[in-house]
Amino acid sequence: MAVWLENDAQWHEERMLHCALCGRMIAKRFLRESFAHGDEIFCGDDCLTLYHDYWLVERGPGYRPPEGIDAAYAERMVM
Ligand SMILES: [Zn+2]
Repeated sequence: MAVWLENDAQWHEERMLHCALCGRMIAKRFLRESFAHGDEIFCGDDCLTLYHDYWLVERGPGYRPPEGIDAAYAERMVM
């Protein structure tokens, strides 16, 4: 179950938190949930829901893009 927490970093500390789904920097409040692969933090309920419903199902932890995807992408780009 996800819990809302606050970043307790002081104003002079450079402790940046980023949402595990969208990558947005989190200034103060965040959601933390535990998974089999470890804890993740999220900027809000929408990102947590999308993480459960799409990201974990389609990609999963440890996902890496297929080999050679950069070459395939460059080949298909219209110049
Ligand atoms: Zn987010």
